[in-house]
Amino acid sequence: MAPRSKLISPKSATQPADLFAKSTEELAREAKNCRNCPLWKNATQTVFGAGSRKARIMLVGEQPGNDEDLIGKPFVGPAGRLLDASLAAAGIDRAKIYVTNIVKHFKWEPRGKRRIHKKPQGKEIAACRPWLDAEIAAIAPVVVVCLGATAAQALLGKTFRVTERRGEFIPSPLAPHVMATVHPSAILRAPDEETRHREEQKFIADLKLIKKLKI
Ligand code: SF4
Repeated sequence: MAPRSKLISPKSATQPADLFAKSTEELAREAKNCRNCPLWKNATQTVFGAGSRKARIMLVGEQPGNDEDLIGKPFVGPAGRLLDASLAAAGIDRAKIYVTNIVKHFKWEPRGKRRIHKKPQGKEIAACRPWLDAEIAAIAPVVVVCLGATAAQALLGKTFRVTERRGEFIPSPLAPHVMATVHPSAILRAPDEETRHREEQKFIADLKLIKKLKI
């Protein structure tokens, strides 16, 4: 495998070239002032990745949600609580992993008094990508898990289909083991309790594949 520094390079000329020498704490501090795309304008704050700097597992979602935007930490809302419970059920300690998103600002549109999630565009994902690449370089995870189609297609290619390839380890320069599964928010959107329970069990089964790697 080629050195990771050669495989992961910033794609945006607007980002400083020396991001790769930085710790996640330094990156998080710098990202607070990021204006590389317009998403910062309507968001409360940058929600950078969080977790153990020695993490061997990195989970990558799409973007912060309403709660994450207000609190400033990733996966702390309902989807985060479901993720916590699923990780625990799979025997994975969240304190030992690192969680982040493809895009670090909450993109939303108003619906009445509520702020409704809006999917980031390709150019916003591309603008934010150097932050993620720098996080991967800093953590050097053994396993990267893409949560949901947006993260999976950003990291594994536009034609990647989570519905067809979830739970499969995909050869990738990102890390020795790379897998995609659903985003926990998709489980929360299940139409009924029975479907939700079934989808949650499938999600836990995907996470157990990571546990089986014994990394
Ligand atoms: S979404 Fe990413 S690229 Fe856009 S302003 Fe926020 S941190 Fe910067």
